[in-house]
Amino acid sequence: MEQNAKTTRRSHPRTPARLTRRRALEVGALGCAGLFGADSIFSFLRRWKQDAEPADVFKGDAPSEAVWDLWRKRGWVREAQHYLKLDRNVQCKICPNNCLLEPGDRSHCRNKVNRGGTLYTLAYGNPCTFHVDPIEKKPLFHFLPGSRSFSLATSGCVFRCLNCQNWEISQKKPEETKDPQGGEFRLRPPVPPALTLGQIRRLSLFPEDLVAVAQDLDCPSISYTYSEPTAYYEYAYDSCRLARAGGLRNVLVSCGSIEERPLRDLGQYVDAMHVDLKGFSDDIYRKLNSGRLDPILRTLTTLKSLGVWVEVINLVVPTYTDDLDMIRRMCGWLVAHLGVDQPLHFSRFHPQHKLTHLAPTPVDFLVRARDTARREGLRYVYIGNVSGLADAQTTFCPNCSRPLIQRDIFAVAALDVVDGKCRFCNTPIAGVWA
Ligand code: SF4
Repeated sequence: MEQNAKTTRRSHPRTPARLTRRRALEVGALGCAGLFGADSIFSFLRRWKQDAEPADVFKGDAPSEAVWDLWRKRGWVREAQHYLKLDRNVQCKICPNNCLLEPGDRSHCRNKVNRGGTLYTLAYGNPCTFHVDPIEKKPLFHFLPGSRSFSLATSGCVFRCLNCQNWEISQKKPEETKDPQGGEFRLRPPVPPALTLGQIRRLSLFPEDLVAVAQDLDCPSISYTYSEPTAYYEYAYDSCRLARAGGLRNVLVSCGSIEERPLRDLGQYVDAMHVDLKGFSDDIYRKLNSGRLDPILRTLTTLKSLGVWVEVINLVVPTYTDDLDMIRRMCGWLVAHLGVDQPLHFSRFHPQHKLTHLAPTPVDFLVRARDTARREGLRYVYIGNVSGLADAQTTFCPNCSRPLIQRDIFAVAALDVVDGKCRFCNTPIAGVWA
């Protein structure tokens, strides 16, 4: 879709204007300083610029003509949704990175390019990985427990988390994970028992194929996961729409950094979302994830208003997010805005990607974090990525305190929620059970 936008004026007939928000700020500041006083205007602009400046993009990194042709022939290119045309420049409005691209540029998430003044995604119908996972692996503990979810991802991400556990796909371009050379290979039922790496690299899985494959594999849901579905929004959107029509549920596993309008468009087809709330400090978000806190909080409240089932995960990273006061404030916010029935998963950090010098999160800290969350009023608090810790992943009835769902890693060992209620005292248990 195309949104209305002012066009950029060229400074010279043959030289496209270099369009940046920095330039707009400079021009605006000169005009306003005389009216309101230079100090207050420039202080306001410094703060606003920090929030509104588009993310860094890959200048001149769009694919070559040969690669572009191969991508197009495979159907792996689609015009993007939710962007502005600004003369020959474009601005993506899917996530708060708001990438501003001149012709030939590639986006911050690596999946989009400006070609001739049109924004295209290169991540359509070309997942680089897929699996059938237990829904508990997402993790979602209050959503169709014990069910299997067809799970997939393309390359790309809107964040740069120092601790990313899937950086080998999230921090790659589509052309680094896929290879359209050779014959077309479109996955459809019946699904072969195994695929070679070469087949996966040239595999196409378009939305209609994805729905048919998930149904063939008896998966009641499709999960858009592993990397970041916001970075392959168009593919996820079309797939969610078709999956809903085909009677399947849709699950998003996301950092939650998405603008409100695309979230509302997509959210109407989403049944459950796991949102990584990576901390409760804008400063930590900038340092650890190159993101911002406010958009994530807005996503959480928007999802609640849309009636999407949400579970929140908080990875406790030593020296970054192992702060009990911050955790207490985060839990207070969850209770105030999402309610006491909002499930929260604390997850143990293990050294990876750019934080291999840090030790794993001490288990006793995770237990103290869980105690803090319970004191703040949250009823369903879990600890993940830890083995041998009793009841770390057990759901208890908030009324009679009996264990209702016991889990063994990703398997459900006992399930005493019947028709959405505690089997013993009939108290409703929040979640999606049927
Ligand atoms: S989705 Fe990608 S292209 Fe769009 S604003 Fe976010 S990072 Fe940029």
